[in-house]
Amino acid sequence: MAKIIRASGAKTNVPSVPKKPPKRGAKAVPKPKKSPKPKPWTQAEIHEAFSRFRKANPEPKGELEHLNPYTLLVAVVLSAQATDAGVNKATRALFAVADTPEKMLALGEDKVRDYIRTIGLYRNKAKNVIALSQKLIDEFGGEVPRTRAEIESLPGAGRKTANVVLNMAYGEHTMAVDTHVFRVGNRTGLASGNTPLEVELGLEKVIPPEFMRHAHHWLILHGRYTCLARKPRCEVCLINDLCRWPEKTV
Ligand code: SF4
Repeated sequence: MAKIIRASGAKTNVPSVPKKPPKRGAKAVPKPKKSPKPKPWTQAEIHEAFSRFRKANPEPKGELEHLNPYTLLVAVVLSAQATDAGVNKATRALFAVADTPEKMLALGEDKVRDYIRTIGLYRNKAKNVIALSQKLIDEFGGEVPRTRAEIESLPGAGRKTANVVLNMAYGEHTMAVDTHVFRVGNRTGLASGNTPLEVELGLEKVIPPEFMRHAHHWLILHGRYTCLARKPRCEVCLINDLCRWPEKTV
């Protein structure tokens, strides 16, 4: 997945660099008006937004191809700073020969590297795939563990990886914040934050439990196909009447 980029909608929350005082006699420059803080969403509005996402796509699916929790974990680790499509292209052949930690170790680092050399940072990622496979065998009986702390302890896996795996493989109500979710959370005003963790915790706080199973995918897909980074497609957006972004185009 691509690197987190701060959404332009979040700019207003970021402390600015202090300016030098004006020189004597210099014309006073009028202070820029602070844009008013958007009105927080009501619970009814949040319910309405997610009801619309659910109606449009009742069973959203992630786009990373995988065969089981282990291959999902590997795919997510490989997706750091890469697109899902690019990862899928490489993993189709890799997972056909190695869909368990044991088979991955038998394949060995050099061969894994060959399979994934079209993905950015492939050398380091091949190392991590081998090391995490070894750790799964040594410490977790060859299974992908079910807690965030345990998944985060694996080489190459961070909080986002753990949240994706817990949600997709085990149905947990986690919120993985990638670049799309980060942007949508900030722009819409659903959960503003300067870091992925702030947005994650903010979203978890406001999204009703009945939507949490799929909320992560609805927001990712919304960011990927509608609320685009450069040119959001506000005119076809399902929640354009609810969105708080001052720059929305409807
Ligand atoms: S109205 Fe525009 S900015 Fe707001 S969520 Fe929809 S696409 Fe994004």
